[in-house]
Amino acid sequence: MANWENNVRKVVPYVAGEQPKNKKVIKLNTNECPYPPAPGVERLAREMDMDAMRLYPDTDIRPLADELAKYYRLRPEQVFVGVGSDDVLSMCFLTFFYGKDPILFPDVTYSFYDVWAELYRIPYRVCPLDENWHIRAEDYKCKNGGIVIANPNAPTGLCEPLEKIEEIVKANPDVVVIVDEAYVDFGGESALPLINRYENLLVVQTFSKSRAMAGMRLGYCMGNEKLIGYLKDVKESVNSYTVNTPAILFGVEAVKDDAYFKATTAKIIATRERVKKELKDLGFTFPDSKTNFIFASHKTVPAEEIFRMLREKEIYVRHWNKPRIDNCLRITVGTDEEMDTLIAVLKDYFAQKK
Ligand code: PMP
Repeated sequence: MANWENNVRKVVPYVAGEQPKNKKVIKLNTNECPYPPAPGVERLAREMDMDAMRLYPDTDIRPLADELAKYYRLRPEQVFVGVGSDDVLSMCFLTFFYGKDPILFPDVTYSFYDVWAELYRIPYRVCPLDENWHIRAEDYKCKNGGIVIANPNAPTGLCEPLEKIEEIVKANPDVVVIVDEAYVDFGGESALPLINRYENLLVVQTFSKSRAMAGMRLGYCMGNEKLIGYLKDVKESVNSYTVNTPAILFGVEAVKDDAYFKATTAKIIATRERVKKELKDLGFTFPDSKTNFIFASHKTVPAEEIFRMLREKEIYVRHWNKPRIDNCLRITVGTDEEMDTLIAVLKDYFAQKK
């Protein structure tokens, strides 16, 4: 190793799910929405004013922060917008997890949390989920430097009741508690109503899943004005212009069309519930997902074998070679047709094995 390399910030990066070039692939590996964004987004894309590209964007990400504030009945000062919720979460780690005590998060959760902790040199401790993949509130009632919980959790898909989240927030008034609600629109219970009662609570959401805009990179968090102010100070010290103007304007169109948003999420939920029954009949078990994915293991066939077989058939799902979850597959809920193909391929495979 050359000497200069001693001065390099080294980190083992987060590994995102694969984006195949082959359009024929049934892509159930990164929890994208199988339906297009709201029609207003496409309309705007066709008639975008070129000044949206020529000029710098608004550093406060208006008018999107205003539109989100209106939608969630908040003040605009309670909303922070970023380049996907990954950007928002990363800024939150950088801003709020600056103490000496370890931050806490579950052992099985979004695999970016430990990457940010390592990157920013934040001490952390993982709290094991119980044998049914649930969070134990007791684990979070100790001295700590902050807490981050995905609810519903990924990759398990389970949603903890609001009472449990509140119990954790209430027990930790001296640190910031972040609830990552990337999947909350698929039947979860949001902690948003709690932000006016707990000034240390931040709720993070995204346009990537329920609003079908993963490629646009839009995420946001909501909380007390003081928290949002600290977050903006840090963000503007890293990069003043994070979200680009077209994304801001597309985001406004997406939020405005509540009917489309509700119809899309309802369709995905209906498909998920049907697929749960079919997977069960095929011998799969899984926690009761409230997300747009199902975290399934088969009673007899190893997950890795199913993963490879599906890949050969051009159906991509997600599998991790990690403790506790190496016999599970995370299967995104796609369109009804995509899920029919998945079920048919699985049925065929299991029939041949008999
Ligand atoms: N949180 C969780 C729990 C996720 O699964 C994801 C998706 N990878 C994200 C946050 C980030 O999503 P995005 O940056 O696309 O908003």
